[in-house]
Amino acid sequence: MFKAILIEKDENGQRVSLSELDESRLPEGDVTVRIACSTLNYKDALAITGKGPVVRRFPMVPGIDFAGVVEQSTDPFFRPGDKVVLNGWGLGEVHWGGLSELARVKGDWLIPLEPAFSFSRAMSIGTAGYTAMLCVMALERHGVRPESGEVLVTGAVGGVGSVAVAVLAKLGYEVAAVTGRVEESEYLARLGAKRILPRSDFNQQGKPLASEQWAGAIDVVGGHVLANVCASMKYRGVVAACGLAGGMAFPATVAPFILRGVTLAGIDSVMCPLDERREAWRRLAEDLDPALLDGMTQHVAIEEVIGVSEQLIAGAMRGRVVVPIANP
Ligand code: NAP
Repeated sequence: MFKAILIEKDENGQRVSLSELDESRLPEGDVTVRIACSTLNYKDALAITGKGPVVRRFPMVPGIDFAGVVEQSTDPFFRPGDKVVLNGWGLGEVHWGGLSELARVKGDWLIPLEPAFSFSRAMSIGTAGYTAMLCVMALERHGVRPESGEVLVTGAVGGVGSVAVAVLAKLGYEVAAVTGRVEESEYLARLGAKRILPRSDFNQQGKPLASEQWAGAIDVVGGHVLANVCASMKYRGVVAACGLAGGMAFPATVAPFILRGVTLAGIDSVMCPLDERREAWRRLAEDLDPALLDGMTQHVAIEEVIGVSEQLIAGAMRGRVVVPIANP
């Protein structure tokens, strides 16, 4: 038997509980992992609260991330005892995920745990942090350098935003942070933000083009915020868009793209190819200060995950949420 969060759905709606499950119920896969740590991302909170259509197969164990130790494997690349990490690949959406003591997955989805990280630190990063690094790598790929000018991060107090601010600052970028919680300015300054801007400057309909301010931007919000960010990019600026915390819509015009050569780079962490994932994790080991990572992390027991999910969706959590599962 193993413990897991289970989401069930019937004609009366969705029910979520911490359940004891038989191992025979684990999905198909060639590697069984004893999970040491998981995490709570925005997407997990959407799944658990039922506030977004994340789960596509019921019953579902949520959790798009885990770190743990291989218990059994028929995959030639993994042996019992190996320390591994998994991010995305449909976990918690179509395949049972990481908010559980056990997982069975495809070996192709696993990457070895970077030696620099404990299980807990790897999950402090989680999909949110690894996505932040994918965004930074996209800015770099499109030519944004510290000397190019200020880089803007939206939803800065959240998980992706916090890691993005910390990594960009460590790399020498001048970071401006947009937040709905200006009372967290000290936290953002500690991560390395040089300027804090209120969300209210960005979340109303703006002009197709505004004054040119940002050489690069990382947006987790979407909606009017993303549209206004695009409108205020410098000539040939680059926006990495990865989130929808403010909505799915994109009420923008083509003006920034055709008049200022702005690039909008879409970021997907779920199906991101393995070599790019490994590179992102390697870079995180190098370019993210572990002390800052610890300072942005809260630990929540698996028993508390359901309640904390509501708070996360309400935008009341700061930084990253780690869920310790076991101590292998
Ligand atoms: P999170 O920790 O909940 O942070 C989201 C932040 O967005 C909040 O802390 C808040 O920041 C801001 N926000 C929340 N509601 C808002 C609203 N209505 N309007 C404007 N800003 C709002 O979530 P996360 O884990 O960082 O994820 C952020 C987004 O990225 C989510 O949409 C998530 O689904 C997406 N994501 C996508 C990928 C991908 O592969 N594309 C991967 C990971 C995450 P402030 O309080 O600072 O304003």
